[in-house]
Amino acid sequence: MSNSSLVNYTKISPNSNNPRNNTIKKITIHHCAGNASVETIGNIFAPTSRQASANYGIGSDGRVGMYVEEKNRAWTSSNAENDHQAITIEVANDGGAPDWHVSDAAMAKLIQLCVDICKRNGIAKLHYTGDASGNLTRHNMFAATTCPGPYLQGKFPYIASEVNKQLQGGTVEEPEKVEAVYHILDGTNVGRGTDKLIRYTGTSTGTNEYGFEVPIDRNGIAVTGVRYVGNSPIPVGGYVLSGHGEAGKWLYANINEGDLVGVYDGWVKVQKACCRTLDGVDTGRGTNQLIAYTKGRTGTNAYGFEVCIVDGVATSDAIYGNGNILVAEGTYVLSGHGTAGEWLYVHVKKGTRVEVNTQYGFINVKK
Ligand SMILES: [Zn+2]
Repeated sequence: MSNSSLVNYTKISPNSNNPRNNTIKKITIHHCAGNASVETIGNIFAPTSRQASANYGIGSDGRVGMYVEEKNRAWTSSNAENDHQAITIEVANDGGAPDWHVSDAAMAKLIQLCVDICKRNGIAKLHYTGDASGNLTRHNMFAATTCPGPYLQGKFPYIASEVNKQLQGGTVEEPEKVEAVYHILDGTNVGRGTDKLIRYTGTSTGTNEYGFEVPIDRNGIAVTGVRYVGNSPIPVGGYVLSGHGEAGKWLYANINEGDLVGVYDGWVKVQKACCRTLDGVDTGRGTNQLIAYTKGRTGTNAYGFEVCIVDGVATSDAIYGNGNILVAEGTYVLSGHGTAGEWLYVHVKKGTRVEVNTQYGFINVKK
Protein backbone atom coordinates (compact mmCIF):
# COMPACT_ATOMS: atom_id res chain seq x y z
CA MET A 1 0.00 0.00 0.00
CA SER A 2 1.32 3.37 -1.01
CA ASN A 3 0.42 6.90 0.02
CA SER A 4 -0.79 9.74 -2.18
CA SER A 5 1.77 11.76 -4.13
CA LEU A 6 -0.58 14.74 -3.71
CA VAL A 7 0.54 15.18 -0.08
CA ASN A 8 2.09 18.59 0.69
CA TYR A 9 2.60 18.18 4.45
CA THR A 10 3.04 15.16 6.75
CA LYS A 11 2.64 14.95 10.51
CA ILE A 12 1.97 11.37 11.61
CA SER A 13 -0.56 11.01 14.43
CA PRO A 14 -0.12 8.38 17.17
CA ASN A 15 -3.89 7.75 17.04
CA SER A 16 -4.17 4.75 14.70
CA ASN A 17 -4.20 0.95 14.46
CA ASN A 18 -1.09 -0.29 12.67
CA PRO A 19 -1.65 -1.96 10.31
CA ARG A 20 -5.34 -1.81 9.31
CA ASN A 21 -7.04 -5.23 9.48
CA ASN A 22 -8.79 -5.04 6.09
CA THR A 23 -8.11 -3.97 2.52
CA ILE A 24 -8.97 -0.46 1.35
CA LYS A 25 -12.41 -0.52 -0.27
CA LYS A 26 -14.02 2.77 0.77
CA ILE A 27 -13.56 6.49 1.13
CA THR A 28 -15.10 8.44 4.00
CA ILE A 29 -15.25 12.22 3.72
CA HIS A 30 -15.45 14.43 6.81
CA HIS A 31 -15.44 18.14 7.50
CA CYS A 32 -13.23 19.95 10.00
CA ALA A 33 -16.04 22.20 11.33
CA GLY A 34 -13.55 25.03 11.05
CA ASN A 35 -11.11 26.64 8.66
CA ALA A 36 -8.12 24.53 9.65
CA SER A 37 -4.90 24.50 7.64
CA VAL A 38 -3.17 21.16 7.02
CA GLU A 39 -0.69 22.14 9.77
CA THR A 40 -3.49 22.89 12.26
CA ILE A 41 -5.17 19.57 11.48
CA GLY A 42 -1.82 17.88 12.20
CA ASN A 43 -1.62 19.63 15.57
CA ILE A 44 -5.18 18.59 16.46
CA PHE A 45 -4.40 14.90 15.80
CA ALA A 46 -0.96 15.00 17.50
CA PRO A 47 -1.84 14.40 21.20
CA THR A 48 -2.80 10.84 22.20
CA SER A 49 -5.43 12.41 24.47
CA ARG A 50 -7.33 13.52 21.36
CA GLN A 51 -8.12 9.90 20.37
CA ALA A 52 -8.84 11.01 16.80
CA SER A 53 -7.08 11.15 13.44
CA ALA A 54 -7.62 10.89 9.70
CA ASN A 55 -5.56 9.51 6.85
CA TYR A 56 -5.63 12.84 5.01
CA GLY A 57 -6.76 16.43 5.47
CA ILE A 58 -7.36 19.15 2.89
CA GLY A 59 -7.06 22.87 3.67
CA SER A 60 -9.17 25.60 2.09
CA ASP A 61 -6.09 26.46 0.00
CA GLY A 62 -6.26 22.98 -1.58
CA ARG A 63 -3.11 21.66 0.14
CA VAL A 64 -3.14 18.04 1.37
CA GLY A 65 -1.86 16.79 4.73
CA MET A 66 -1.21 13.18 5.72
CA TYR A 67 -1.65 12.10 9.35
CA VAL A 68 -2.08 8.32 9.12
CA GLU A 69 -0.46 6.30 6.35
CA GLU A 70 -2.87 4.40 4.12
CA LYS A 71 -1.59 1.03 5.41
CA ASN A 72 -2.91 1.99 8.87
CA ARG A 73 -6.40 2.58 10.24
CA ALA A 74 -7.24 6.12 11.24
CA TRP A 75 -9.69 6.92 14.04
CA THR A 76 -12.14 9.14 12.22
CA SER A 77 -15.66 7.86 11.63
CA SER A 78 -16.81 6.45 15.02
CA ASN A 79 -16.87 3.03 13.34
CA ALA A 80 -13.90 0.65 13.41
CA GLU A 81 -15.28 -1.63 10.71
CA ASN A 82 -15.65 1.30 8.31
CA ASP A 83 -12.31 2.87 9.08
CA HIS A 84 -10.39 -0.40 8.71
CA GLN A 85 -11.72 -0.45 5.10
CA ALA A 86 -11.71 3.27 4.38
CA ILE A 87 -9.35 6.07 3.58
CA THR A 88 -10.66 8.95 5.65
CA ILE A 89 -10.33 12.57 4.60
CA GLU A 90 -10.95 15.71 6.64
CA VAL A 91 -11.88 18.79 4.60
CA ALA A 92 -11.56 22.34 5.95
CA ASN A 93 -14.55 24.71 5.87
CA ASP A 94 -14.17 28.26 4.58
CA GLY A 95 -17.66 29.04 5.91
CA GLY A 96 -19.32 28.33 9.25
CA ALA A 97 -22.54 26.83 10.52
CA PRO A 98 -25.11 25.92 9.43
CA ASP A 99 -23.88 25.23 5.87
CA TRP A 100 -20.18 24.60 6.55
CA HIS A 101 -19.12 25.70 3.07
CA VAL A 102 -16.02 24.22 1.43
CA SER A 103 -13.76 26.22 -0.92
CA ASP A 104 -13.63 25.40 -4.63
CA ALA A 105 -9.89 24.71 -4.25
CA ALA A 106 -10.52 22.15 -1.50
CA MET A 107 -13.38 20.56 -3.48
CA ALA A 108 -11.23 20.22 -6.60
CA LYS A 109 -8.38 18.68 -4.61
CA LEU A 110 -10.78 16.35 -2.80
CA ILE A 111 -11.99 14.95 -6.15
CA GLN A 112 -8.37 14.60 -7.34
CA LEU A 113 -7.38 12.82 -4.11
CA CYS A 114 -10.34 10.42 -4.35
CA VAL A 115 -9.37 9.54 -7.95
CA ASP A 116 -5.79 8.92 -6.81
CA ILE A 117 -6.93 6.72 -3.88
CA CYS A 118 -9.23 4.68 -6.13
CA LYS A 119 -6.57 4.16 -8.79
CA ARG A 120 -3.84 3.03 -6.38
CA ASN A 121 -6.16 0.76 -4.39
CA GLY A 122 -8.05 -0.86 -7.26
CA ILE A 123 -11.41 0.77 -6.49
CA ALA A 124 -13.11 0.74 -9.91
CA LYS A 125 -15.98 3.07 -9.06
CA LEU A 126 -17.35 5.11 -6.18
CA HIS A 127 -20.90 4.09 -5.31
CA TYR A 128 -22.75 6.70 -3.27
CA THR A 129 -25.90 4.93 -2.08
CA GLY A 130 -26.80 7.37 0.69
CA ASP A 131 -26.22 4.67 3.30
CA ALA A 132 -23.33 2.61 4.63
CA SER A 133 -23.75 -0.07 1.94
CA GLY A 134 -21.90 2.08 -0.61
CA ASN A 135 -18.15 2.66 -0.76
CA LEU A 136 -18.40 6.44 -0.35
CA THR A 137 -19.48 6.96 3.24
CA ARG A 138 -20.14 9.80 5.66
CA HIS A 139 -19.46 10.23 9.37
CA ASN A 140 -23.18 10.81 10.08
CA MET A 141 -23.97 7.33 8.75
CA PHE A 142 -22.26 5.97 11.88
CA ALA A 143 -22.78 8.59 14.57
CA ALA A 144 -25.12 11.40 15.54
CA THR A 145 -23.01 14.21 14.12
CA THR A 146 -23.53 17.02 11.62
CA CYS A 147 -20.27 15.91 9.91
CA PRO A 148 -19.75 16.30 6.93
CA GLY A 149 -22.11 19.33 7.05
CA PRO A 150 -24.94 20.18 4.64
CA TYR A 151 -22.79 21.77 1.93
CA LEU A 152 -20.36 18.86 1.60
CA GLN A 153 -23.07 16.24 2.07
CA GLY A 154 -25.07 17.76 -0.78
CA LYS A 155 -21.99 17.38 -2.98
CA PHE A 156 -21.54 13.63 -2.42
CA PRO A 157 -23.43 12.57 -5.59
CA TYR A 158 -21.44 15.16 -7.54
CA ILE A 159 -18.13 13.99 -6.04
CA ALA A 160 -18.87 10.34 -6.94
CA SER A 161 -19.91 11.35 -10.45
CA GLU A 162 -16.77 13.48 -11.02
CA VAL A 163 -14.44 10.81 -9.62
CA ASN A 164 -16.07 8.09 -11.73
CA LYS A 165 -15.75 10.17 -14.89
CA GLN A 166 -12.00 10.42 -14.33
CA LEU A 167 -11.70 6.73 -13.42
CA GLN A 168 -13.44 5.85 -16.69
CA GLY A 169 -10.72 7.68 -18.60
CA GLY A 170 -12.61 10.90 -19.05
CA THR A 171 -15.55 9.39 -20.92
CA VAL A 172 -18.46 11.61 -20.17
CA GLU A 173 -21.98 10.20 -20.21
CA GLU A 174 -24.80 12.66 -20.24
CA PRO A 175 -26.67 13.71 -18.21
CA GLU A 176 -23.78 13.48 -15.73
CA LYS A 177 -21.99 15.98 -17.92
CA VAL A 178 -24.45 18.56 -16.69
CA GLU A 179 -23.72 19.68 -13.17
CA ALA A 180 -26.60 19.07 -10.84
CA VAL A 181 -28.31 21.65 -8.65
CA TYR A 182 -29.43 20.87 -5.12
CA HIS A 183 -32.00 22.13 -2.63
CA ILE A 184 -32.66 21.01 0.93
CA LEU A 185 -35.83 18.92 1.29
CA ASP A 186 -37.74 20.13 4.35
CA GLY A 187 -39.89 17.03 4.79
CA THR A 188 -42.07 14.30 3.33
CA ASN A 189 -45.87 14.16 3.67
CA VAL A 190 -45.96 17.01 6.18
CA GLY A 191 -47.63 20.42 6.01
CA ARG A 192 -45.88 22.90 3.72
CA GLY A 193 -44.69 25.91 5.72
CA THR A 194 -43.36 29.26 4.52
CA ASP A 195 -40.47 28.91 2.03
CA LYS A 196 -40.42 25.12 2.50
CA LEU A 197 -39.89 22.34 -0.03
CA ILE A 198 -41.93 19.21 0.74
CA ARG A 199 -42.21 15.85 -1.01
CA TYR A 200 -45.60 14.16 -1.18
CA THR A 201 -46.22 10.49 -1.87
CA GLY A 202 -49.65 8.85 -1.93
CA THR A 203 -52.47 10.07 -4.15
CA SER A 204 -52.49 13.88 -3.94
CA THR A 205 -50.58 16.62 -2.15
CA GLY A 206 -53.51 18.18 -0.24
CA THR A 207 -51.82 21.58 -0.52
CA ASN A 208 -53.51 24.92 -1.19
CA GLU A 209 -52.90 26.70 -4.51
CA TYR A 210 -50.30 29.16 -3.18
CA GLY A 211 -47.24 27.20 -4.24
CA PHE A 212 -45.42 25.55 -7.12
CA GLU A 213 -45.67 21.81 -7.75
CA VAL A 214 -44.09 19.30 -10.11
CA PRO A 215 -44.90 15.59 -10.54
CA ILE A 216 -41.87 13.23 -10.58
CA ASP A 217 -42.53 9.74 -11.94
CA ARG A 218 -41.21 6.33 -10.84
CA ASN A 219 -38.05 6.84 -12.91
CA GLY A 220 -37.28 10.20 -11.30
CA ILE A 221 -38.35 12.10 -14.41
CA ALA A 222 -40.26 15.40 -14.19
CA VAL A 223 -43.50 14.59 -16.00
CA THR A 224 -44.37 18.24 -16.67
CA GLY A 225 -42.87 21.61 -15.97
CA VAL A 226 -43.41 23.31 -12.60
CA ARG A 227 -46.91 24.78 -12.19
CA TYR A 228 -48.50 27.22 -9.76
CA VAL A 229 -51.18 24.85 -8.50
CA GLY A 230 -52.30 23.03 -5.35
CA ASN A 231 -53.46 19.53 -4.49
CA SER A 232 -51.65 17.92 -7.42
CA PRO A 233 -52.24 14.24 -8.23
CA ILE A 234 -49.19 12.06 -7.53
CA PRO A 235 -47.79 9.75 -10.25
CA VAL A 236 -47.95 6.03 -9.42
CA GLY A 237 -44.65 5.01 -7.82
CA GLY A 238 -43.47 8.60 -7.89
CA TYR A 239 -44.01 11.77 -5.89
CA VAL A 240 -44.75 15.47 -6.15
CA LEU A 241 -42.38 18.21 -5.03
CA SER A 242 -44.25 21.18 -3.60
CA GLY A 243 -42.57 24.46 -2.80
CA HIS A 244 -43.86 27.58 -1.09
CA GLY A 245 -42.29 31.03 -1.39
CA GLU A 246 -38.53 30.87 -1.97
CA ALA A 247 -38.63 27.07 -2.39
CA GLY A 248 -41.38 27.46 -4.98
CA LYS A 249 -39.32 29.99 -6.91
CA TRP A 250 -36.36 27.60 -6.81
CA LEU A 251 -38.52 24.78 -8.22
CA TYR A 252 -39.84 27.02 -10.99
CA ALA A 253 -36.34 28.16 -11.94
CA ASN A 254 -34.66 24.78 -11.83
CA ILE A 255 -36.97 21.99 -13.01
CA ASN A 256 -38.31 21.49 -16.52
CA GLU A 257 -40.22 18.61 -18.09
CA GLY A 258 -37.88 15.66 -18.71
CA ASP A 259 -35.29 16.62 -16.08
CA LEU A 260 -33.93 13.92 -13.77
CA VAL A 261 -34.81 14.50 -10.12
CA GLY A 262 -33.66 12.51 -7.10
CA VAL A 263 -33.91 12.76 -3.33
CA TYR A 264 -30.74 11.87 -1.44
CA ASP A 265 -30.32 12.19 2.30
CA GLY A 266 -32.56 15.16 2.70
CA TRP A 267 -31.51 16.90 -0.51
CA VAL A 268 -33.25 17.24 -3.85
CA LYS A 269 -30.91 16.86 -6.81
CA VAL A 270 -31.86 18.05 -10.31
CA GLN A 271 -30.02 17.23 -13.52
CA LYS A 272 -30.95 18.81 -16.84
CA ALA A 273 -32.13 16.06 -19.17
CA CYS A 274 -34.75 15.19 -21.74
CA CYS A 275 -36.20 11.92 -20.48
CA ARG A 276 -39.57 10.26 -20.80
CA THR A 277 -40.93 7.12 -19.20
CA LEU A 278 -42.10 4.44 -21.64
CA ASP A 279 -45.68 3.23 -21.44
CA GLY A 280 -44.55 -0.25 -22.43
CA VAL A 281 -42.06 -2.46 -24.23
CA ASP A 282 -43.13 -4.84 -27.03
CA THR A 283 -46.80 -4.32 -26.27
CA GLY A 284 -49.83 -2.70 -27.90
CA ARG A 285 -49.76 1.09 -28.31
CA GLY A 286 -52.72 2.81 -26.65
CA THR A 287 -53.92 6.42 -26.74
CA ASN A 288 -51.15 8.94 -26.06
CA GLN A 289 -48.68 6.14 -25.32
CA LEU A 290 -45.00 5.76 -26.09
CA ILE A 291 -43.90 2.16 -26.66
CA ALA A 292 -40.45 0.74 -27.42
CA TYR A 293 -40.23 -2.28 -29.70
CA THR A 294 -37.20 -4.57 -29.63
CA LYS A 295 -38.14 -7.42 -31.97
CA GLY A 296 -40.41 -8.57 -34.77
CA ARG A 297 -42.80 -5.96 -36.11
CA THR A 298 -44.37 -3.12 -34.14
CA GLY A 299 -47.90 -4.22 -35.07
CA THR A 300 -48.94 -0.56 -34.89
CA ASN A 301 -51.43 1.17 -37.15
CA ALA A 302 -50.52 4.23 -39.20
CA TYR A 303 -51.85 6.79 -36.68
CA GLY A 304 -48.62 7.52 -34.87
CA PHE A 305 -44.99 8.65 -35.13
CA GLU A 306 -42.21 6.08 -35.32
CA VAL A 307 -38.43 6.22 -35.40
CA CYS A 308 -35.67 3.58 -35.54
CA ILE A 309 -32.79 3.77 -33.05
CA VAL A 310 -29.64 2.04 -34.29
CA ASP A 311 -26.50 2.04 -32.13
CA GLY A 312 -28.13 4.67 -29.92
CA VAL A 313 -28.81 7.09 -32.80
CA ALA A 314 -32.09 7.97 -34.57
CA THR A 315 -31.82 7.01 -38.25
CA SER A 316 -34.45 9.59 -39.28
CA ASP A 317 -36.85 12.16 -37.85
CA ALA A 318 -39.87 10.62 -36.13
CA ILE A 319 -42.17 9.88 -39.09
CA TYR A 320 -45.97 9.92 -39.07
CA GLY A 321 -48.13 7.43 -40.93
CA ASN A 322 -46.09 4.27 -41.39
CA GLY A 323 -47.03 1.65 -38.78
CA ASN A 324 -46.11 -2.02 -38.40
CA ILE A 325 -42.39 -1.35 -38.78
CA LEU A 326 -39.87 -4.22 -38.87
CA VAL A 327 -37.45 -4.05 -35.91
CA ALA A 328 -33.96 -5.11 -37.00
CA GLU A 329 -32.05 -7.25 -34.52
CA GLY A 330 -30.21 -5.22 -31.88
CA THR A 331 -32.13 -2.03 -32.67
CA TYR A 332 -35.21 -0.29 -31.25
CA VAL A 333 -38.28 1.28 -32.77
CA LEU A 334 -39.95 3.99 -30.70
CA SER A 335 -43.61 4.44 -31.47
CA GLY A 336 -45.77 7.24 -30.13
CA HIS A 337 -49.51 7.91 -30.43
CA GLY A 338 -51.19 11.28 -29.84
CA THR A 339 -49.31 13.48 -27.36
CA ALA A 340 -46.50 10.88 -27.13
CA GLY A 341 -46.16 10.98 -30.91
CA GLU A 342 -45.94 14.76 -30.87
CA TRP A 343 -43.32 14.51 -28.12
CA LEU A 344 -41.25 12.12 -30.28
CA TYR A 345 -41.59 14.40 -33.29
CA VAL A 346 -40.39 17.43 -31.33
CA HIS A 347 -37.48 15.76 -29.52
CA VAL A 348 -36.11 13.08 -31.84
CA LYS A 349 -34.62 14.12 -35.16
CA LYS A 350 -32.30 12.29 -37.54
CA GLY A 351 -28.95 11.83 -35.75
CA THR A 352 -30.31 12.49 -32.24
CA ARG A 353 -28.69 10.21 -29.66
CA VAL A 354 -31.31 8.27 -27.72
CA GLU A 355 -30.66 5.91 -24.81
CA VAL A 356 -33.44 3.33 -24.60
CA ASN A 357 -33.57 1.72 -21.14
CA THR A 358 -36.00 -1.20 -21.35
CA GLN A 359 -35.06 -2.45 -17.85
CA TYR A 360 -36.48 0.63 -16.12
CA GLY A 361 -38.68 1.64 -19.01
CA PHE A 362 -37.56 5.11 -20.05
CA ILE A 363 -35.71 6.91 -22.82
CA ASN A 364 -33.09 9.61 -22.46
CA VAL A 365 -32.81 11.92 -25.46
CA LYS A 366 -29.36 13.48 -25.54
CA LYS A 367 -29.22 16.95 -27.05
ZN1 LIG B 1 -16.39 13.56 10.85
